[in-house]
Amino acid sequence: MDYSTECDCGKVKVLAFFPLPIENYEARECDCDFCVAHGLAYLSDVNGTISFYPKDSLTPLQQGSKQATFWQCRFCRDIVAVSYTRNGETRGAVPAALFDKEHKLKPFISVSPKKLSPTQKSERWSTLWSKVI
Ligand SMILES: [Zn+2]
Repeated sequence: MDYSTECDCGKVKVLAFFPLPIENYEARECDCDFCVAHGLAYLSDVNGTISFYPKDSLTPLQQGSKQATFWQCRFCRDIVAVSYTRNGETRGAVPAALFDKEHKLKPFISVSPKKLSPTQKSERWSTLWSKVI
């Protein structure tokens, strides 16, 4: 199913395709300092897709192990996606907060990727994250 949303100020649009209705997914609430500070919990499906634009309204941020890129609206500072690129393929996840005003999402589950090694992280993401298109 296709979903669309935007950042708080409306300058950045986010589109997501999930094979199942979005209400079926448990967003993963990351316990790293950055995600806690931004109140981030992530939605993705390995068979889904996400896109976000325009790129010139977005600032790429890196933190932690610097593998992933967090995409922040330059105007309202909302984080609209996280992505990483490996072997030429970019995968990513979108914050549940962008969708939970319009959709009744399941309770979040807590995850702790900071305990994983860089290799374990990218392996985990490649089985969880949606394709960025
Ligand atoms: Zn914005």
